[in-house]
Amino acid sequence: MKVIVIGTGYVGLVTGACLAEVGTQVVCVDVNAEKINNLQKGILPIYEPGLEEIVSRNYQNGRLSFSTDLASVIGGATIAFIAVGTPPGEDGSADLQYVLQVAKEIGTNMSDYLVVVTKSTVPVGTAVKVNREIKQAMLDRGALIDYDVASNPEFLKEGAAVQDFLKPDRIVVGVNTDRAKETLEQLYHPFLLNGRPIIFMDIASAEMTKYAANAMLATKISFINDIANLCELVGADVNQVRKGIGSDARIGTSFIYPGIGYGGSCFPKDVKALVKTGKEYGHGLRILEAVEAVNNDQKKVLFNKIYKHFDGLLQGRTFAMWGLSFKPGTDDMREASSLVLINSLLEAGATVQVFDPVAMHEAGKTLKDSVKWCKDMYEAAAGADAVLLVTEWNEFRLPDWPRVKQLLKASVVFDGRNIYDNAYLHKQGFTCYSIGLSQST
Ligand code: NAD
Repeated sequence: MKVIVIGTGYVGLVTGACLAEVGTQVVCVDVNAEKINNLQKGILPIYEPGLEEIVSRNYQNGRLSFSTDLASVIGGATIAFIAVGTPPGEDGSADLQYVLQVAKEIGTNMSDYLVVVTKSTVPVGTAVKVNREIKQAMLDRGALIDYDVASNPEFLKEGAAVQDFLKPDRIVVGVNTDRAKETLEQLYHPFLLNGRPIIFMDIASAEMTKYAANAMLATKISFINDIANLCELVGADVNQVRKGIGSDARIGTSFIYPGIGYGGSCFPKDVKALVKTGKEYGHGLRILEAVEAVNNDQKKVLFNKIYKHFDGLLQGRTFAMWGLSFKPGTDDMREASSLVLINSLLEAGATVQVFDPVAMHEAGKTLKDSVKWCKDMYEAAAGADAVLLVTEWNEFRLPDWPRVKQLLKASVVFDGRNIYDNAYLHKQGFTCYSIGLSQST
């Protein structure tokens, strides 16, 4: 089976590489010529654990190739995945221009039966628009070729994308013909061998499933952050509360870790887009509006603690920021909480010394020379008034604290991800602030 994946970003490249890994013939297409040239030289546009190895293996064995020219590679394909971006438009709705552009290109260039599958996260009703674009493009050239549209939202997590794709919790597929269903069943068969389910449904429900899933996860995060903030006021410890509630099987332990807000390319934009869809249908999604508002405030929580600790005197101070990416395991900086914090610190006249194991290059595109770039966490700590732990990379979990203490001007740690043992740090002579604990120790 030959498959085309259009859009070679976090989702498209992982999809293409993992499909090739199980024996499918895959061509990844992107309009970004630099990206494609680099991939042909073995240089990946993104950091994702384990991806480089499978891209390189499958490129070398000829199952995976890269192109900027959809027209020249689409012939003989059975499935075309649309995996381009759907960024938020000005009003918060998903911008479908790239998806529809690709649909048009497919209609213009396809020559045999094709299942056109939207993998991008798109609002309900997009498959109808995709269908319309393909049909119109075919009409324009007087062609009449059979095809189906389908929806197959992607649930991979950046930082664990390869594993998630190869061993999915489930695969959700929206179809409206048996032929499309059988084709996708065959494609995904290798991923289902250990009893993992493929859940077929109608297309609108598949489109909705992705938004509902991300909205639920974002809700869990904002919920625990809200509780954490209340814990601080009432004198409770959110870490204990989290364990207490997580042990209830109906609640579960995952995604109830307090922090400094969710970021990334998915939760913020998908929550916004779903709220917008609700409005379009006259149905206010009040819970999700609150989820978004809580998250926006949560991104300021660490700054407020810093401001309070230094009595508002931040001008001329220096801060060591450990971590930049929106979460560990990725170089993705989209909507990262670090950016909000850096902005507030710079506005207050402080200097920020940053280190991230992977995201420095990506972050440099936005931050340029507004911060001091450091070669490791210790260089970042040198001469700083405090350490700010922003992304919980493994290598930040057990620092050489005596060394950090020596390097810092004052022994203060603001732990935005609750990874440090406050009691231990206190014994080492540090003042430590976390999220959701009644007081600093
Ligand atoms: P991305 O920005 O990393 O990649 C998108 C790629 O599409 C870019 O390389 C861009 O050059 C390319 N592109 C744009 N227009 C094109 C065109 N006309 N033809 C060919 N290529 C084109 O985006 P991403 O993070 O991979 O996300 C893609 C979609 O998947 C989004 O809808 C997103 O919401 C969804 N999604 C993302 C994740 C994630 O963790 N990143 C997870 C699940 C779903």
